[in-house]
Amino acid sequence: MNQIKSVGVIGAGQMGTGIAHVAALAGYDVLLHDVSQDRIDAGLALIERNMSRQVVRGIIDQDAMDSGLKRVKGAPELQTIGQTDLAIEAATENEETKKAIFKALGPHLSDRTLLASNTSSISITRLASVTDRPDRFIGLHFMNPVPLMKLVEIIRGIATGPDTYELAVNFAKSLGKTTSNAEDFPAFIVNRILVPMINEAIYTLYEGVGTVDAIDTAMKLGANHPMGPLELGDFIGLDTVLSIMNVLYEGLADSKYRPCPLLTKYVEAGWLGRKTGRGFYDYRGDVPVPTR
Ligand code: NAD
Repeated sequence: MNQIKSVGVIGAGQMGTGIAHVAALAGYDVLLHDVSQDRIDAGLALIERNMSRQVVRGIIDQDAMDSGLKRVKGAPELQTIGQTDLAIEAATENEETKKAIFKALGPHLSDRTLLASNTSSISITRLASVTDRPDRFIGLHFMNPVPLMKLVEIIRGIATGPDTYELAVNFAKSLGKTTSNAEDFPAFIVNRILVPMINEAIYTLYEGVGTVDAIDTAMKLGANHPMGPLELGDFIGLDTVLSIMNVLYEGLADSKYRPCPLLTKYVEAGWLGRKTGRGFYDYRGDVPVPTR
């Protein structure tokens, strides 16, 4: 078994930056790739802002931040990711996008590189099947925001080998995370339960049972959830929520998972939640304002 010293992250969005952030603070050398230099720069800037916030809150000290930031480098060429010990794909939740990334990375992979996907819902077995190493491919499902959330769901595909599993679990633990094993079924454990709840909250809004405010207040104070389901949907990203519902709907062939038409409409409008400034709330002012 080899040891993981360097990590490549593909996708510099909310999750990729979070994974790069915690890996760098844990002492790994990190390469961060995205489709353009602008996206990479925005990702690196976000990591710096988020680490600064941790310094202000006394979670890490300035030295840890400075040395952590030095360990993260932008990687405009995907092929350089192939030289890292562990390549974690955290690109948009779309099966074709993810498969295309793994296919493009294939010829540039060193023998020792382990592959992982941070997918929220897509079959690890299917993603692994487009690579030359399904035995060295695993699902490492981090939670958002990565620096705060303790869990990493570990998903073994049908071919994932025991060494790969052990390395992946040890890697997650080295980041201070707790792991939980899920079988490779659509959306695994967390999102199999969480995302249909968010979709149901959107149906509740769509059918006029309650307003955005009423639904979120009801679930925060009535079910003791730290965030309301619509706020949480905005936080995850409504495109990701819709993709996960589609994976559940198609993968389990059960109409109870049909995505709410109102969710589809928000995604079609480009109102994807916090990351685009508007979703079930409008985030462009000082305080979020419900959009319905
Ligand atoms: P995001 O939209 O914030 O970021 C996705 C990034 O991937 C973007 O920067 C995009 O430019 C990049 N990308 C798209 N195609 C690419 C390609 N071909 N090569 C390189 N980069 C590419 O999305 P996110 O919330 O960070 O989600 C990323 C992944 O993490 C998804 O699989 C999602 O399901 C999963 N995930 C999300 C959450 C969440 O709460 N948002 C939680 C756990 C896991």
